[in-house]
Amino acid sequence: MSDLASLQTAIDTAAAKVVDLKKSGGEVDAIKAAVAELLAAKTAYAAANDGKLADGTPFDPNASKKDKKKKKNDSDKAANAAANAPTADSLAKKAAKKAEKAAKKAAAKSAAAGGAPPAPADGKGKSPAAAPAAPAAAARPPAPPASKGKKKGKPVQFGKVEPLQLIFSPNTGAKVPFVTLLAATMSGLDPDLKLKMDSRRTTPAFGTHGVGTTASKVIQGDISIAKYFLKTHPRQDLTLPLLGGADFKGQAQVDEWIEYTLKCKGAAGATGNKVGYNELLETVEETLAGNNSMFLCGNKLTLADLVAFDALNLDPKVNPNPTPTASFPSSVDRWFALLDSSPYTLKTRHLLCSIDGTTEFPADQVLDPLASGCQFLEGAMPFEVCTRFPPEPSGYLHIGHAKAVLLNDYYARRYKGRLIVRFDDTNPSKEKEEFQQSIVEDLKKLGVFPDVVTYTSDYFAQLKSYALWLIDEGLAFMDDTPQEEMQTERMARQNSKRRDLSPADNRKYFDLMGSGDAEGAKWCLRAKVNMQSVNGTMRDPVIYRQNLTPHHRSGTTYKAYPTYDLACPIVDSVEGVTHALRTTEYNDRDEQYAWFQNALKLRRVRIHGFARMNFMYTELSKRKLTWFVENGQVTGWDDPRFPTVRGVVRRGVNVKALRGYILSQGASRRITLMEWNKFWAVNKKEIDDEAKRFMVVSEEGRATITITNAAEPSKNEFLNIDAHPKFPSVGKRLLKISSSVMVESSDISGVEVGENIVLSRWGVVKITKVEGGIEGEYVPDGDLKACKRKLTWLSESEQNIQVKLFEFDNLINKPALEEGENFKDFINTNNLAHMVVTGDAGMKLLKHNDVIQIERRGLYRVDREHGRVGNMAKGGTGVGGDLGEEGGGLVLFMIPDGKSKAMSTLGGKLEHR
Ligand code: ATP
Ligand code: MG
Repeated sequence: MSDLASLQTAIDTAAAKVVDLKKSGGEVDAIKAAVAELLAAKTAYAAANDGKLADGTPFDPNASKKDKKKKKNDSDKAANAAANAPTADSLAKKAAKKAEKAAKKAAAKSAAAGGAPPAPADGKGKSPAAAPAAPAAAARPPAPPASKGKKKGKPVQFGKVEPLQLIFSPNTGAKVPFVTLLAATMSGLDPDLKLKMDSRRTTPAFGTHGVGTTASKVIQGDISIAKYFLKTHPRQDLTLPLLGGADFKGQAQVDEWIEYTLKCKGAAGATGNKVGYNELLETVEETLAGNNSMFLCGNKLTLADLVAFDALNLDPKVNPNPTPTASFPSSVDRWFALLDSSPYTLKTRHLLCSIDGTTEFPADQVLDPLASGCQFLEGAMPFEVCTRFPPEPSGYLHIGHAKAVLLNDYYARRYKGRLIVRFDDTNPSKEKEEFQQSIVEDLKKLGVFPDVVTYTSDYFAQLKSYALWLIDEGLAFMDDTPQEEMQTERMARQNSKRRDLSPADNRKYFDLMGSGDAEGAKWCLRAKVNMQSVNGTMRDPVIYRQNLTPHHRSGTTYKAYPTYDLACPIVDSVEGVTHALRTTEYNDRDEQYAWFQNALKLRRVRIHGFARMNFMYTELSKRKLTWFVENGQVTGWDDPRFPTVRGVVRRGVNVKALRGYILSQGASRRITLMEWNKFWAVNKKEIDDEAKRFMVVSEEGRATITITNAAEPSKNEFLNIDAHPKFPSVGKRLLKISSSVMVESSDISGVEVGENIVLSRWGVVKITKVEGGIEGEYVPDGDLKACKRKLTWLSESEQNIQVKLFEFDNLINKPALEEGENFKDFINTNNLAHMVVTGDAGMKLLKHNDVIQIERRGLYRVDREHGRVGNMAKGGTGVGGDLGEEGGGLVLFMIPDGKSKAMSTLGGKLEHR
């Protein structure tokens, strides 16, 4: 039989003939004959190559012309749909339907013809040195379960497969795609894979990337997918001819080994004995020892080794069947150890752990269970995970950033790895030292302590050499196309006229741009990626541009700066980041990110997407927040109405509650628009149990009850009560009791002589007089339950203090702004209210940031201590409070508790949402 090269030549010749005939207007019959010839040539090739053509696409000789036409229409339709509103979902559904139909048809046809699948090439060429004829027991690999009764066509598979998704089945017996995963880690592709289990599948499946307008394809089978990976992503730095390279005989040898290994495995699997396993073991030993070679096909690692390694693997998770009788013979032992200890194998094992939530890490790597809302980090290796939080020092951290930083921190800690905080300072026009400083402080507030703090600006020199390298490799070009025109060209997928400038010219203009020359300002550097890509971010993105604003760290050393698109993939890789957590609006950029790492031959970094966290009635964009500050809508970046970290902490957000809340949503990719009230309810749970209880009486509208059988206020009589009635561990406090008790007049209105009322925490008082001043008599051991009214109150005392209570509402009065709406049209100006109350002497001891509960009013945070003047958040000195906290004295901010009808008496003045 001819080898693949000559089969390919036959295809090429036949194809050329068809084209010639068509072009020259040949006879219909002649064209038909030529097409039949082409088909035959392809069939012969596919028969000798696992049913696939040279480019790896499966070839079905039975697909009629009509089918093809339909296929083309379908793919055109799909492409159109993708151009309009590409949902991976709908494409996958279509593809699944199509596959199902095709398989049914193929099965029907094959049943009619009584045909067997095309016989695989039996390789007249020389067998591998020691590959013997397979024993009878191992002669037939087990048929894939879903193809029972259908002799031809792929088994029908259900469940959608999205691009770059690798799906396998958790069903017992269904093997995990170990070879595929090993090939993926070796080809550096693993960071791109989205791993998923789907019990509806019986064969591993992989969705390829759609290229240009072509829709994604599904490849099935562990080895087919592995081959695809190794062919499409050959590793430059590994020089492993994993497939036998362009040497077709070598490739046949590899294929023979694979086929033989599968037969042996089939025997072991089908009969449940060790025949196949031991036979394979013997053959591998004979080959390695007999040839004195490192690997099965000589001294180079090939796919044959990976497949055999997998078949001989003892890990029951990977391989449920084999249990060898004796230990490995010596050559196998060496070969196995080499493969077993390879970092790729290690990584593959961890990849397996990360898809299958039930698999434990090895004993010495036991980790805390995952937080309930969080997923595994794919490919995460304990002790080696490195995450990073890259804030741009162009504003203060807000609650959305808190999600990003807390997630990064969580994963770094959970995997016992590292967290880098990197100031992403590549745009001197927006960045300031002040912002950088504030971020450092806010991270502390959030309880985040990075292992290392770095700056993108520290890499400016390195980034510049990478840019020059791209220029020299012909992978980047200088462009002076005006911005608008560039945008139009992008939309039209039209190359820039500068795309093919020579490297020398490119360098010249790059230097001009970097020199700060005004002429150079017109030029920017663009990566030469792909203007035809469906993904707009791949259309030659700008990666360097001039900026003459002095940089807050590097001063005027540089006059041109890398963009985020260039800097991020480089610095992530260089700094050893293993998992880059990015909000999902960067999804489109993932491809570009990988392109840069590939183009620059850098270590690939795995991207893990998570959804932005937004809150209702809240704007988070730095630009808009800056507007509020600059227009005096708030008192500063730490205003309690502001969603900045310092703002919300001042409002009463408890960091532990926030952390728990964020982890409970986890790194899900679903877009989240949070309701403040839901968060506040969680927040309350965290703080309520430790909040000391106090009572206050408002300055306006109070009434006095004279308790005729109690001591004068001057006598200083106290009750020693639990500061928290339910939790004595919170401590004790003194509650002054006397004959003169202040209450809210609304609480006591309509009271009648003879009525028993409860004074909270003290006891029952029987009202004895109402006209001309209310009087009552303390009833020791009175029945609290029999009373209708339960009042908060305060004894008259010289030690009582004045307390200012503040309440806030959101700055925006619409839950979520629509596209095109201007936030300035939705400013809620009724966002602050305050009142003055009297509190008892115990409140003098409250410290800044203490959280207390004022009975029947709610939770409060101490913003200013008693006896202090000014805004403590700003250092406690200087001008008086800027929210209306004039003068001095205790200032409390109400902490919402998630109930829309808050206990607060200011509730009527403000919305609670
Ligand atoms: P803006 O676009 O408002 O200027 P930004 O998101 O670009 O803000 P960065 O300083 O670049 O600000 O953000 C640092 C990190 O915080 C990024 O990884 C970003 O994805 C993340 N982040 C920003 N906003 C949110 C959010 N609302 N939810 C979750 N993560 C966020
Ligand atoms: Mg940003």
